[in-house]
Amino acid sequence: MKGMARPPGAERIRRVLIVEDEPSIRRGLADVLRYRGCQVEVAADGAEGLRRGLEGHWDLIVLDIMLPEVNGFLVCERLRAAGLRMPVLMLTAKDDEDDIVRGFEVGANDYVTKPFGVRELRARLDALLQRASVQTPSTFQAGTLQVHVAHAEARAGDERYPLTEREMLILRALAEEPGRIVGRSALLRDAWGMNNVDQLETRTVDVHIAKLRKKLGRHSEMIVTVRGQGYRLCP
Ligand code: CA
Repeated sequence: MKGMARPPGAERIRRVLIVEDEPSIRRGLADVLRYRGCQVEVAADGAEGLRRGLEGHWDLIVLDIMLPEVNGFLVCERLRAAGLRMPVLMLTAKDDEDDIVRGFEVGANDYVTKPFGVRELRARLDALLQRASVQTPSTFQAGTLQVHVAHAEARAGDERYPLTEREMLILRALAEEPGRIVGRSALLRDAWGMNNVDQLETRTVDVHIAKLRKKLGRHSEMIVTVRGQGYRLCP
């Protein structure tokens, strides 16, 4: 079989990095992921997690926040600054809203609160692993802008607007249904890979849309707020 192309639809082995300093949680996470057929590697502190994370080629990183050496926020921020786009699942203390919001701001895709149940963890892991295998088109039109994914920017004539991966995913979700209202929970699903959302998380959408509008300057008017419902893109 050596050298043969994988048949279409065949599952590729997913590589997952777990960064967690508590041995029992690390073991539990590794068991859940290995049971799902993933190849798992572990790091016990933030410095090692960052070093391993920067090696790239991960399909998912599970990242604790409170870590020795370098905390999880900084690890995630550095990974994103290095241009790495793999999904990151943060482990946060129970119901700490500030941690959750900050996690999203540094580029995390989702979170679970400790102590977590295996069912919840599995649902979140599956959503992120699935998202990792979805391809994004290399360019697409969003209202008055052409989004170039590889360059991480939107263009209109000579104008260039640098975008984060999340901002491109938000624009893509809106652009797929021009003129139609896209709810906050749909945006969380498409741009964050999150399926079970609550009130707190929908605020995250508003924060990101506000930043995106600021970046887009005169093009920001194409993103319209529909009170109580969501957002839509003016075609
Ligand atoms: Ca910890």
